[in-house]
Amino acid sequence: MANIGLYIELKEGKSKKSNKETLSFAKKSGKAVYAVVFTNDVGPYLDELKGVKKVIQVKGDDLTYQPDFYADTMAKIIKDFDLEYFLGIFSAQARDLFPRIAARTEDAGLINDCLEIDLENNQVARPVYAGKLLCRYAIEDKIKILTLRPNVFPVEEGGAGDPEIATVDLVKSEPKIKILEVIKSEAKKIDLQEADVIISGGRGIKTKENFALLQEVADLLNAGIGASRAAVDSEYATYDMQVGQTGKVVNPKLYIACGISGAIQHFVGMKTSRVIVAINKDPEAPIFKKADYGIVGDLFKAVPLLKEELKAVL
Ligand SMILES: Cc1cc2nc3c(=O)[nH]c(=O)nc-3n(C[C@H](O)[C@H](O)[C@H](O)COP(=O)(O)OP(=O)(O)OC[C@H]3O[C@@H](n4cnc5c(N)ncnc54)[C@H](O)[C@@H]3O)c2cc1C
Repeated sequence: MANIGLYIELKEGKSKKSNKETLSFAKKSGKAVYAVVFTNDVGPYLDELKGVKKVIQVKGDDLTYQPDFYADTMAKIIKDFDLEYFLGIFSAQARDLFPRIAARTEDAGLINDCLEIDLENNQVARPVYAGKLLCRYAIEDKIKILTLRPNVFPVEEGGAGDPEIATVDLVKSEPKIKILEVIKSEAKKIDLQEADVIISGGRGIKTKENFALLQEVADLLNAGIGASRAAVDSEYATYDMQVGQTGKVVNPKLYIACGISGAIQHFVGMKTSRVIVAINKDPEAPIFKKADYGIVGDLFKAVPLLKEELKAVL
């Protein structure tokens, strides 16, 4: 039985929501699961890691993300623990880290942004050309390194059995990269793929400036702000806000679509939202067939009313 490793990505000390997907996938594979966490205190993560065979705790005096240290440590773990598969979330950090891990691991192949994975038949699928094609690959290398697109793979909560814990020291090789400064975006942007609430604007929002209307509601709900491709193409919103087939797949508890018609390519990016609210002036808009709650009306009237109501109750 081959061993499957996975990288538990942390953000500000918390396990990222999509780790649950890689974990569920790995546990369902029937292989022995090894979860790698860079932390000096593994305690807070053990509940989530029930059911894995081994937690590999990477310790160090400074565990701030450093591409060389992380990649060298991970490559060593893959070798020492005889991991045949290694998984992670296709996150911003993974885009930087996983190619480095693959390059440092002998006989390894990497496929990023997987939408489907069939380990038995060595088949993985990922979108190419901005989602216009789905390509299937088989990795011929011995070690298969894969990142999973967030919010695509099903989550199964819980797991039986406490894992064993192994500790490994962070490999502090001679760094080839020096991080001089981390510049955070000025706007308080909430990661759409982690957000519990998202309010999105479509072509109906009409201008870039009108997104400020959505921002006011977002501030009250601690929500992320999304957009349709039409809004992005019209330069009302930036690409990192795009939800859908060629944008982000999101999975919030509440998704509020404002001035979005509900095209299939948008819907595939938000269909797993627990509650969908649509505001659209066209009663025939397809979004109403998918929404749990619908407001037929002008968003420029409905959104300010929603804001006032929220202010009153929050
Ligand atoms: C290969 C491919 C990939 C694609 N990928 C994506 C993707 O990732 N994400 C995505 O979103 N789309 C994607 N699309 C585009 C998709 O097909 C639609 O064109 C797009 O989603 C439409 O965006 P929209 O709903 O904002 O615009 P429209 O379809 O133009 O709808 C605007 C809506 O706003 C309503 N409206 C207008 N004014 C108001 C108002 N004042 N108040 C209330 N409602 C109002 C209108 O009634 C209308 O329903 C893709 C298309 C292709 C071919």
